[in-house]
Amino acid sequence: MTEAYPITDHTYDCVVIGAGGAGLRATFGMTKAGLKTACITKVFPTRSHTVAAQGGIGAALGNMDEDSWQWHMYDTVKGSDWLGDQDAIEYMCRNAVPAVYELEHFGVPFSRTEEGKIYQRPFGGHMKNMGEAPVPRACAAADRTGHAILHTLYQQSLKHDAEFFVEFIALDLIMDDEGVCRGIMAWNLEDGTIHRFRAQTTVLASGGYGRAWFSCTSAHTCTGDGHGMVARAGLPLQDMEFVQFHPTGIYGAGVLITEGARGEGGYLTNSNGERFMERYAPTAKDLASRDVVSRAMTMEILEGRGVGDGQDHIMLHLEHLGADILAERLPGISESAKVFAGVDVTRDPIPVIPTVHYNMGGIPTNIHGEVLRPTADDPDAVCPGLMAIGEAACVSVHGANRLGTNSLLDIVVFGRAAALRARDTLKPGAEQKTLFKGAGDYAIDRLDKARHAKGNSPTAQLRLELQKAMQSDAAVFRSEKTLQEGVGKVHSIAKGMDDVSVSDRSLIWNSDLVETLELDNLMACASATIVSAEARKESRGAHAHEDFPDRDDENWMKHTTSYLQPDWSVKLDYRPVHTWTLTDEVEYIEPKARVY
Ligand SMILES: Cc1cc2nc3c(=O)[nH]c(=O)nc-3n(C[C@H](O)[C@H](O)[C@H](O)COP(=O)(O)OP(=O)(O)OC[C@H]3O[C@@H](n4cnc5c(N)ncnc54)[C@H](O)[C@@H]3O)c2cc1C
Repeated sequence: MTEAYPITDHTYDCVVIGAGGAGLRATFGMTKAGLKTACITKVFPTRSHTVAAQGGIGAALGNMDEDSWQWHMYDTVKGSDWLGDQDAIEYMCRNAVPAVYELEHFGVPFSRTEEGKIYQRPFGGHMKNMGEAPVPRACAAADRTGHAILHTLYQQSLKHDAEFFVEFIALDLIMDDEGVCRGIMAWNLEDGTIHRFRAQTTVLASGGYGRAWFSCTSAHTCTGDGHGMVARAGLPLQDMEFVQFHPTGIYGAGVLITEGARGEGGYLTNSNGERFMERYAPTAKDLASRDVVSRAMTMEILEGRGVGDGQDHIMLHLEHLGADILAERLPGISESAKVFAGVDVTRDPIPVIPTVHYNMGGIPTNIHGEVLRPTADDPDAVCPGLMAIGEAACVSVHGANRLGTNSLLDIVVFGRAAALRARDTLKPGAEQKTLFKGAGDYAIDRLDKARHAKGNSPTAQLRLELQKAMQSDAAVFRSEKTLQEGVGKVHSIAKGMDDVSVSDRSLIWNSDLVETLELDNLMACASATIVSAEARKESRGAHAHEDFPDRDDENWMKHTTSYLQPDWSVKLDYRPVHTWTLTDEVEYIEPKARVY
């Protein structure tokens, strides 16, 4: 029997969950439009994972070489292996240039060229003239671009008097009988109180779920909480099988070395000292798309050309760039290499390995950030009152593989798009229906159950089992065998949530309880990922299936939608990749083989 939890009620026009780049851009955009907006975040805004982004934000400014947003669009469609929605990609790439200038005007301290223009560096998969040669398109603030952007967006939010609820854990959506989202429930870690936020629109900007794997570059807070809430509400997640492995995580530590390191001229070698990328991607070489480089590295290791005692990693060389360039352009990763690998990058190469980095899949939305609830008649039907943006969402601009720098772009472009949509469709202070009886009980019951969980499996143990299973079975290369095993393993580990044990019953700063709720969300994400991956009988982008090595456009050029069931099984459906709302200025980019 659930004990009574006193509830504090709030009413806002908009409630945003998450204060990363996406959440902050939406929050102050909505506030600026006169909408009373609350931003709820489990960590202090400037500690969101966006702060860790290093390399840059993509926009065809053409500051260093000729460039155009149509080329950027082409590269993004190709990078997505034709799973991205071309209309959404057009919207993002077209808006990239104004978005970066807007950031500049907000105060982002970009690095500069000698003429004082925004500095741009080459990045994987960014090419000129429809794939001919690399072009510098990543707008960078040294190797701390995310840090610069996040702090600037937070300052803008303060300037616009946005209201923050910091160190509040959002628990679950409030969904009414008609399937309308009416707000969200949250738990204040500081004093243990429970809060019910009623809103015209609730925006999930809760980031990715990299922590479902053992080795990832993401922060410990990246646990797919928004994904979990959506899944529990009976809404779909989309394209969860597409998970990006970044080629250069520091071996043993998982910490990221930005692709910008290769953009500045760094290169990879195997145990023979060979620059092997020349064999796999003759034109782009070390700057091919991430999935291509991660697969090449894995092939080298599998074929016995890995470096080190275990022949299990690859070397990244920067020492030839010279101490001055390294200090000016790559100071952050020089420090990371020192701290996490004991390497002085001016003298020695860095040991690296492909590491989980980004989730292309997520909560399906249209280009306005509105969450989709597809029906048989309408694959683009929306769930009223609910939006999703940033890494939590799947618009889909990244398709089967994201290009580096396109996520910082995604978060500002679609954070802004959500704010514009709210401005255009909501009336500030509009009367909201009284909440139905029992609104929020679902969230409280779930919290209460976890708080009093007296099983035999500590949260940390279940999490480790999950992370190991995902690491081995939802890996760079997948096969019928590993995927089928993975489905079984993840299902039985997720069922273990019934036997979880939580030792601390307090509601104040109870990290055991927070981690248990987070693990519940990770389980939802992992289940959707592995089941979606097992079902996809082709190789596309980051989904490299050994038994189906080719892309199969005829049968598989479609988005997977996955629905979590109460017994942790997952039901799948599919929706079309859509391209019918391109403007007159661009043409549909026909699928072709993806070579770099
Ligand atoms: C190391 C690293 C380097 C990267 N480098 C680049 C790069 O150079 N260029 C690029 O384009 N992309 C890069 N990326 C990817 C990019 O940074 C992220 O995809 C992007 O910043 C995600 O932003 P976001 O706003 O969606 O989420 P995040 O920044 O992850 O923020 C999530 C927010 O949600 C909140 N939250 C989550 N759950 C809850 C809950 N239950 N209750 C309350 N609040 C909650 C958190 O407190 C946080 O504020 C990098 C990623 C990593 C990990």
